Order: sequence, then C-alpha cells, then structure tokens
Amino acid sequence: MSARRRVVVVGGVAAGMSAASRARRLDPDLDITVYERSHFCSYSACGLPYHVAGLIPDHEALVVRTPEEFAADGVTVNVHHEVMAINVVERTLRVRNMAGGRSRTEPWDALVIAAGARPASSGIPGKSLPGVFTLRTIEDAQAIRAWIAARDCREAVVIGAGYIGLEMADAFRARDLATTVVERADHVLPLVDPDVADDIAAELAAKGIDVVCGVTVDAIAGKSRVQRVLAGGASIAADIVVIGVGVRPDTTLAAAARLPLGPDDGIVVDEGMRTGVDGVWAAGDCCQTRHLLHGGPSYVPLGTTANKQGRVAGANVAGGDERFAGVLGTAVVKVCELEVGRTGLGEQEAANAGFDVVSASVTHLSRAGYYPGHEQLRVKLLAERGSGRLLGGQIVGREGVAKRVDVIAAALHAGATAAELEGYDLSYAPPFAPVWDPVLIAARKTAEAATARARLREAV
Ligand code: FAD
Repeated sequence: MSARRRVVVVGGVAAGMSAASRARRLDPDLDITVYERSHFCSYSACGLPYHVAGLIPDHEALVVRTPEEFAADGVTVNVHHEVMAINVVERTLRVRNMAGGRSRTEPWDALVIAAGARPASSGIPGKSLPGVFTLRTIEDAQAIRAWIAARDCREAVVIGAGYIGLEMADAFRARDLATTVVERADHVLPLVDPDVADDIAAELAAKGIDVVCGVTVDAIAGKSRVQRVLAGGASIAADIVVIGVGVRPDTTLAAAARLPLGPDDGIVVDEGMRTGVDGVWAAGDCCQTRHLLHGGPSYVPLGTTANKQGRVAGANVAGGDERFAGVLGTAVVKVCELEVGRTGLGEQEAANAGFDVVSASVTHLSRAGYYPGHEQLRVKLLAERGSGRLLGGQIVGREGVAKRVDVIAAALHAGATAAELEGYDLSYAPPFAPVWDPVLIAARKTAEAATARARLREAV
C-alpha cells in the first residue's frame, strides 16, 4: 500500500485554510497538516476593529472554524506552532511547538506557504513602549482591549490613515477616547484620490476625530508606558497608540529558501499559485499578484484575494488546474458613518502606469429624491482619454456605496468603456436609487470627458 501524499500548509487564516479545505474536498486521500503560529485559525481579521470597538464583544464570533471542526474533516491544524525553516530540496520543514515543546523535522510532498503579512515596521523610536500596538491578530485585538480595560484611557493616537488606521480611529471613538490620526501623506486614505479623501476628512472632523496630514511622527514618548506622540513639532497626549502604517508580505521562510520575490517583496507566483519551485505553492498576503488593468505586478493584501488564491492553490495541490487571474484592488471601508469604495486605478496610479487618464465626478442621490432617507453620493470615474475604457472608480456616501463600487468593478473586469457602463441595465426602485443611478450619470460624464477632450486635442 502506498503512503498518503502529505500536504503541509504554513499559515492557518484566510489563504491557508481555504487551500487546506479545498484540497481536502477534492482529494479525500491527502494527508493535510496546517501549522499556525497564533492561537487561532480560520478567523476574520477584517472584524478585529469592530471587536476593539465593542460591537462584537466576543472574539470567538470572528472564528469561522476551530481546529476541532477541521479535524472532523480530516485536516490537522496545529495552532501555536511556528514553522522555522523549509527545505525545498529535501522536502522537509522544521517546526516548533511554541508551548515549550521541542522543534522537529516534518516531511512534505506538497507545501502551501500562506504566511500572510506583518504590520510594516515603522522604525519609530518608542514603538516598543507599553501601550503601543499594531493590529493583525485576535491576540493583538485582545491586548488592545485589555489595555483600555485596565486603565483610565482618555486619549488615543493612530499613526497612519490607511483603512485599518481609520477603522481603529472609529473604534477608539466608539470607546469614547479622544482620538488623533497622524498621516505622513497629504491626505487620508491614500487608496483614494485627494479630492475624494476630502469628504472622508470632513466626516472625521465632524465626528470629532482630529486628523493631522503631511506630518511624520518623530517619536513615541513615555516613561514606563506611552504618554505622547511627537510629530512635526507637536506633542500629542496618548494613553494608547496604534501604528497602522501598512503591511509587508511575510516572506521570512520563502526568502531563506530562495523562492523568487517580486518588487514589493511578495512571493512570485503564476496563475496557478505555483512558486518557481516544484511542489511549492503560495497564496494570500505573502504573495504578489497581477493587476488586471496594467498587467504588471501588484501587492494588494486583502481577504477577498487571499480566500480566492488559497482556493486555487488547494485545488492545484490536489491535482487540479485552476487559475487566479489577478486583482483590481476593489475595496470598501466604513469610516464613521461614511462608506468609501474604490476599484481599479487612482489618478496617480493610472498616470504612473502610462495611461492618459480623464475623470469625472458627480454628486447625486442614493434614492429617489422624494423617497425618505436619501443621501448624497459622490461617484468619481476614471477612463482612458480617447478610447473611454474605464480605469477605476471611487464612491463616497452614507449608503449604497458597496453595491455601486461592485458594479464598477464588474465593468472593469469586462473591459467596458464609460459609454458602455452608461447603458448597463442596473436595478431601480425609489427606496434604492434614483431612476438615473449616480453611477450611470458619472459614466455619461466620463464618456463625454474622454471623447470631448480627445477631439479638442485632435483639433489643436
Ligand atoms: P494572514 O491573515 O496574515 O494569515 C497568515 C497566518 O500565517 C498568520 O496567522 C501567521 O501567524 C501565520 N504564519 C506566518 N508565518 C508562520 C510560520 N512561520 N509558522 C506558522 N504560522 C505562520 N481584507 C478585506 O478584504 N476586507 C477588509 O475589510 C479587511 N479588513 C481588515 C482589517 C484588519 C484589522 C486587518 C488586519 C486586515 C484586514 N483585511 C481586510 C485583510 C485581510 O484580513 C487579509 O488580507 C487576510 O487575512 C490575508 O489572509 P492570509 O491567510 O494571506 O494571511
């Protein structure tokens, strides 16, 4: 009798557990083992800010499936186990039981690296002071909650106004902490264009969150715990600090094993999530991927992508031939009462990728004007001058943003022009949209801008 083929997965969150589950479903004979450094597997990191805010009081609500549930399906999940090294020649790895156990060598026939990302190292002096946190794992969220619960915290500082930083600012506001956000760039949420970011800054100000942009933090100061954040000559009082200055792919193992890394240091994979080394796949936030609009490498660490990539890796480990085509960077985030969505390229990104870009914005209603509860929605679309091919979209408003940004994402996937989007058969009834949806009006304006300016240029 031949031995079962042994699949080992490093990392037990979105990408890793998707890979393990899919491989198990497709091939019941595989021997599948997952190693996960933290105490939890298969959880939603995306829900962590809401756990800190108190909206989701129990962290267990964020856990999708436990190791026991995976065991019942024949997938062995070893939490609190750290893989220290992989040997791609001998097809082994070195793993350590973090609960005081010794390290051991384990063989594998197929390896999936799903090690995710780590908070970017800020290098800020004082970042190790008690009361300074990053947010990536359930343990991080628990530590933040415990810090607040144990003392009379009044003031919070969030360093970085990306989506995690803004979600944390909102969480601190929900915990009645006076909150300041310090951002090095000249506008909040660098995922969107500056004009769209103005609406977000206005919302933060209206909700009493102080925002300081264009300022680099010099140091975090305090005696036995954090007390101040020093930035641009100002000293901001802080009982708690969260650093959210982005994430970097966790490629410690991959780099040591000499797997190819891309320009953003993500593991290079093909559409089947294969690395350059036979028998080794990678998926999720530790990988770079392909941007569907410019075709070049891109690093967009999001849960949606990690789940899809993990599923593809798992299928292919089990002998399939599935593909992950790439990303548009579609994302949606709630900032206080505001919904913000984006997909495709921003103006600067489009220009950097060599596109001659035009844009148009409209502000219109989320529901019929006569229907109670309508809100203003701002839709910005970007397209290529001349062809009118859509390049991106950004939406800000108090309702209906996610559905609409997904329409734009679908149009980008289809390679549609702005004029084609204007003709899309979108749903309409007074409680949900005006008869001319803001997306359709924005598409019309963008199509006009793309061709009118092209005509003007020809005339000149
Ligand atoms: P990770 O979730 O990082 O998991 C990798 C795991 O590998 C880690 O648990 C790590 O402990 C483990 N690991 C690493 N090295 C080793 C080793 N040597 N040995 C053993 N284990 C190891 N995405 C969205 O799409 N929408 C959102 O709204 C959203 N909100 C977010 C909010 C927050 C606060 C955070 C932190 C992330 C959010 N994301 C969101 C991003 C999303 O959570 C990630 O893209 C997703 O978790 C990536 O999954 P992954 O499996 O690739 O990596």
